[in-house]
Amino acid sequence: MPAANHFEKIESYLPLNFSAPQDFLIAFAVVLAFLIVRYFLAVFPFYFFFWMRNSPPTPFSKAQVKMEIKYSIFSSVLFALAGVFMAFLWQKGFTRIYLNFDRYGYAYLLGSIIIVAVIHEFYFYWTHRWMHQPAVFKRVHLVHHLSRDTSPWASFSFHPLEAVILAAFLPLIVILLPLHPVVIIAYMVFMTISAISNHLGVEMLKNRWVLQHFISGTHHSAHHKRMNANYGLYFCFMDRLFRTEHVTREK
Ligand SMILES: [Zn+2]
Ligand SMILES: [Zn+2]
Repeated sequence: MPAANHFEKIESYLPLNFSAPQDFLIAFAVVLAFLIVRYFLAVFPFYFFFWMRNSPPTPFSKAQVKMEIKYSIFSSVLFALAGVFMAFLWQKGFTRIYLNFDRYGYAYLLGSIIIVAVIHEFYFYWTHRWMHQPAVFKRVHLVHHLSRDTSPWASFSFHPLEAVILAAFLPLIVILLPLHPVVIIAYMVFMTISAISNHLGVEMLKNRWVLQHFISGTHHSAHHKRMNANYGLYFCFMDRLFRTEHVTREK
């Protein structure tokens, strides 16, 4: 097992020189391959346990899944570019990423993941509402709503313009907020699971408290069907604050 101070060195995370074009390309290829493998490895268990073992919770067509996989792979290209760009910014000293675990205290280290999630909620809610403006919707967000009945394969199915808007969040937040790379990695894992859970069409956790405060399978599935409600990402509070939670749960 690596010692804790292994995670306090920039070389442990960035073994290449991101200013050199060939290193940038190598990193891009590695991150892209990783994101595509992550997509299949992360979605498949959910698809298997919630869809194949039971009958699909929503009507389901092979053509839709093919389309979702195609757009998810396009999105992975843009997510990989954003990831490598973030690494470039970090190496150049443009970010507030910090390496010593105790630099801002352990309470902040743990709490920073919640702070990022809350800021992300604001960012997603307002960009999402903007994408529902009729003129913007057709060009940017329609692709994601082609999955009227959500499937776990739709979790990363976005038009490239929408993928850019979504991918911009992490490079922006690391410029503004001190974050430890381990927190960023944990947050990425959380983002992946949440994106899949939101598109499952069924509830992953049936706990009442969770369903009351967090976006989940049926809450987001109602957004895909009704369009004018439930714009949130993780939490229900933005939709409640701005009175857009018109329906809480829908099959
Ligand atoms: Zn969606
Ligand atoms: Zn939408």
